[in-house]
Amino acid sequence: MATSVFEVDCHVHAGAERRGVALQQFEAALRERGIRCAGLVDHAEFYIADKPRPFVEALRGAGCPYAENADGFVAFCGDVRALRASSDLRLACGLESEFIDRTPQDLLGPPDFVAHCFKVRGDGKDFGVEAAERIRRFAAWVRPSGKPAVVHHPFRCRVLAYRELLARGEAPAPERFITPDDVRRIADAVGEAGLFIEVNLSTVHSIGDSPEALALYVHAVRLLIAEGPRLTLGSDAHGTAGLALTAGMRRAVSETGLTPAHLQAACDRLFGGTCAA
Ligand SMILES: [Zn+2]
Ligand SMILES: [Zn+2]
Repeated sequence: MATSVFEVDCHVHAGAERRGVALQQFEAALRERGIRCAGLVDHAEFYIADKPRPFVEALRGAGCPYAENADGFVAFCGDVRALRASSDLRLACGLESEFIDRTPQDLLGPPDFVAHCFKVRGDGKDFGVEAAERIRRFAAWVRPSGKPAVVHHPFRCRVLAYRELLARGEAPAPERFITPDDVRRIADAVGEAGLFIEVNLSTVHSIGDSPEALALYVHAVRLLIAEGPRLTLGSDAHGTAGLALTAGMRRAVSETGLTPAHLQAACDRLFGGTCAA
């Protein structure tokens, strides 16, 4: 078992967004950070024909090493597997899809795992109900592939919405904005489908300027851990600079009570064994 949760990072963007940096350089940066198990992912939307426009514009011409089609994604997964064969790190390749309705099933074949880029804010609706509905749709979509599947950053958009309310002086108490019922519904949807769900470090980074929003995030993750779903931990780094751990991230994770034991199932399923040396 890992001795620190930070030895595991299941969400590192290392495909189209590598921007010309060799995967070997990426591996060196992971090792320097003390990571032993890394999930290297790329956005499905980069490789599909029916692309959400702004997304592609942001990546195009930025030194992307892969073709913008299914062959490009096959090449990315091949590069990760080639590196894995010669690396002392445990590596897995993953597909992260936001627009699951536009992502063809054949993109689910190449990766070791599939993740959902979860963007539910819960505006004007019951957050827990909408989130659980969304998770069940993802579960149904990924199930035929038989791949391990992860819900990425489940509270990110909800916490960002809270920060907007804070700025307007309209925020309710944290425990009323993400409730135990909300989190139970999310954990139930994840548990019944055998999914994993992420504790996401970039969420901490995005709201680091707001102690109240950070308190909401820690509160939500504590509730999630108490519900007992299988967890991953992810930096959501886009590029090697995003791998750096800030004091705020370390503090937030320690306040949630996350331990290596919570990540053991993910280490077993995604990386085929323990994340120990
Ligand atoms: Zn995402
Ligand atoms: Zn991501």
